[in-house]
Amino acid sequence: MSSQALMWCMPPANYRKKRYKVRDKGPSHLQRYGGRTAPIPDSFIQNATCRSGRPGYPAHMFEFFLQFPVFCGTDLCPFGKGLVQNGVFLRGLRNRVGGPSCFAQALCDKKKQLCEGSTRMEEGLDSDGNTFSTREVMWEIYTGDEKGRDEWYTKGVNYWSAVEASVDGVLGGYGKISGRDVLDSNKFLMDCFKTLIPDARDQQLTALDCGAGVGRVTKNLLVHHFYEVDLVEPVQQFLDVARQELHFDFVGTKLKNVNFYHNSLQDFVPPEGRYDVIWIQWCIGHLTDADVVEFFCRAKLGLKPGGFIVLKENIAKSGFVLDKEDASVTRSDEYFRDLFQQGGLHVYKHRTQTAFPRELFAVHMYCLTTEFKKKKKKTKKAGKKGNTPGVIK
Ligand code: SAH
Repeated sequence: MSSQALMWCMPPANYRKKRYKVRDKGPSHLQRYGGRTAPIPDSFIQNATCRSGRPGYPAHMFEFFLQFPVFCGTDLCPFGKGLVQNGVFLRGLRNRVGGPSCFAQALCDKKKQLCEGSTRMEEGLDSDGNTFSTREVMWEIYTGDEKGRDEWYTKGVNYWSAVEASVDGVLGGYGKISGRDVLDSNKFLMDCFKTLIPDARDQQLTALDCGAGVGRVTKNLLVHHFYEVDLVEPVQQFLDVARQELHFDFVGTKLKNVNFYHNSLQDFVPPEGRYDVIWIQWCIGHLTDADVVEFFCRAKLGLKPGGFIVLKENIAKSGFVLDKEDASVTRSDEYFRDLFQQGGLHVYKHRTQTAFPRELFAVHMYCLTTEFKKKKKKTKKAGKKGNTPGVIK
């Protein structure tokens, strides 16, 4: 905020603060949220009143005091210019037209716009501990316009370009979990095949490995189930290592051919009708919501009839957690399900990764289909349960 704008809303020295202060009983909004931005509590809105007019100020203006989180300069601030400290709007001048009730209405409207009126209400955090009342606010701040979006993606790729091109590197120093990860992925994939592509074993299937890194998923999982795999990865040195790793005689595997695409997911257009399975693991967090949904739409076209998508990803307990260092967002289950819906995808199967270190995010696997498929009901074999003797341990 410019110093001129600050001066404009500073009260004269003889000004008696209390008279104009908005009543807000109890601990201040700022104190309660440890100085961070936070949603506006209902109680605050109900208590919001203000008195107008005071000597030295134009008659049509009144001054107000409150603590209201400001998310993005003055753009998302309902009060126009004023004194903003630590992301909280503290004091401003306002045209008196409409009076205090109009002002209270503006607060309510803004709150509705930011926090309510949609299914997307979950609050989120960034790695500095700042909170965001909605995901829209977070994206507005971190990407904003086209330039901001480009910067976001450049940051992500720059982060990975500085990481060692190895399994340990792509797993953030947790190379040791790769075996466990592949084990559960394999189980999940086999389960999906069982009902979606029952004759998968005898078919020459094709898969796409998205954000493939050094080819870990392809080398340890996909080679055993697919005849051909395409890898798409934006970091050149990862792709080079993947090429070396996968340039072997595929004896004992099903794989006959691999193709490498040096590209980012937000730009990649899967060839139409090419894939039986599109595998997306630990990379979708780099994409903005809009690009995730657009990618889902393109991915759907890239699937063969009956094909499916597997998304395996870290899951936040609620809302989202933005990592400023690598420009990525960890989304909640609810958040993902909303994006699936927007992309026209249905969750056919859903499992949680087991036996990962406790300090890590939960990891979920989703099998996504383009059509809603009813799951087959398990039929009880008559009399089986009744005839099974109980075991006394
Ligand atoms: N899926 C791999 C690698 C995970 S590490 C595995 O499970 O082993 C995350 C990967 O996402 C990195 O290889 C990184 O380069 C890639 N990535 C980063 N931004 C991306 C983007 N916009 N599109 C596609 N991949 C991206």
